[in-house]
Amino acid sequence: MSENIVWHDHKLTRTERASLKHQHPCLLWFTGLSGSGKSTIANALDVALHQQGYHTFLLDGDNVRHGLNKDLGFSNEDRVENIRRIGEVSKLFADAGLIVLSAFISPFASDRRLVRNMFPAGEFIEVYMDTPLETCEERDPKGLYQKARSGQIHDFTGIDSPYERPSHPEITLDTSNLCVETCVDNLMSYLKERDLLKPGSDS
Ligand code: ADP
Repeated sequence: MSENIVWHDHKLTRTERASLKHQHPCLLWFTGLSGSGKSTIANALDVALHQQGYHTFLLDGDNVRHGLNKDLGFSNEDRVENIRRIGEVSKLFADAGLIVLSAFISPFASDRRLVRNMFPAGEFIEVYMDTPLETCEERDPKGLYQKARSGQIHDFTGIDSPYERPSHPEITLDTSNLCVETCVDNLMSYLKERDLLKPGSDS
């Protein structure tokens, strides 16, 4: 980093930005295998929060790889950089006072820890989508498991690339036995119990 770059403290704090929105900024980090339901549940929660008057932003794996991270591939080095950048962007959105939902396979515990450490205690909420590989593979919403099994794509998480299960996730959801509505209810309850959502924000 250049020694001529100096950090500027903002006059407005993140707390002040968030209090105008009657909410507490946080990051819900959805991690799990492809097809485990990260995108589906993050989108459903995003809609539910928005309908109740909360200010949110959703960052999704494929979309980020089309833009900000389109220079990155799937080597271990690029996967680490992918998550680091997403963590930094998530932090900027949270600093703007938003509830951020990020849905990325993020298979490595060390990368998830790096993002967790960017946030104050209690504001990083790891949501582990603990859907069994068999269910994910059966769903195969993007046809990627089939390609991985037939050797058309390599280093696919769960097939020929590892997924490190979170050891202490804040929330665990298995979408092979929970419907979308129940998952959203569980997440909403978690946020309310921890005072991250202030009642009456839509009033
Ligand atoms: P990921 O983002 O983890 O790759 P997606 O959300 O894109 O996963 O895909 C999950 C697929 O499983 C979708 O096609 C979704 O419709 C389907 N699905 C079936 N039941 C559920 C459920 N209870 N929760 C989430 N997704 C489900």
